Amino acid sequence: MKVQGQLQVFQLPVLQDNYIYIIRDINTEKTAVVDPALAEPVNSFLKERNWTLDFIFSTHHHWDHTDGNLQLKEKWNCQILGFAKDAHRIPGIDQHLQEGEEFTFGDLPCRVLFFPGHTLGHIAYWFFEEKKLFIGDTLFAMGCGRLFEGSPQQMFTSLNHIKSFPPDTEVFCAHEYTEKNGHFALSVDSKNQMLKDRMKKVQTSREKNQATVPFFLSEELKTNPFLRASTLEEFTNLRKKRDIF
Ligand code: ZN
Ligand code: FE
Repeated sequence: MKVQGQLQVFQLPVLQDNYIYIIRDINTEKTAVVDPALAEPVNSFLKERNWTLDFIFSTHHHWDHTDGNLQLKEKWNCQILGFAKDAHRIPGIDQHLQEGEEFTFGDLPCRVLFFPGHTLGHIAYWFFEEKKLFIGDTLFAMGCGRLFEGSPQQMFTSLNHIKSFPPDTEVFCAHEYTEKNGHFALSVDSKNQMLKDRMKKVQTSREKNQATVPFFLSEELKTNPFLRASTLEEFTNLRKKRDIF
């Protein structure tokens, strides 16, 4: 029988508003870091616990997700995983992942999802037995990633794919953008009571400097305007408005 909650997740807030995730399979004690913007906070976290680092999971090539890669690899001799088609710009990549590929992290199966939009080579790591999704800069609480490289159609398709996931999926995104996203969401969906309630909770958390991430997909389905957009045109207009908000 499968024991739930075998994947431990630790969240390190770094830089202005980034989150680095350290994940650990309890059974095998394999440890990985998702999107290390920096090496030093990861090293001190591991040192405190006397753990070693086995893997780095990269969601996309941006510096605020990969700047720690090479320093961590040098120290721990860990394996770096990233999207095959983006191998040329993921520093230190060892394992070239394909869209839809499944691999195991310790005892836990993980599926590689291709979500172009924010960049053309953006992937997510889906621990489907644990219902934990490491999404990088594709989906944020009440928001979505900016379209630096991809088209609105690509991002709209990626978000529609995410909508089909179990609502009790826990989403781990890479930035604390929730409060600003919430203000934007309210500006386009002012009568949404769930959105208003959520925003109150978010503001209370932020006043206490608490994280509003991770979050459940079920909440997004009810309050995230980008997930609620039903047509490409609606999505495109929202994204344009958000860019200048
Ligand atoms: Zn990014
Ligand atoms: Fe980022």
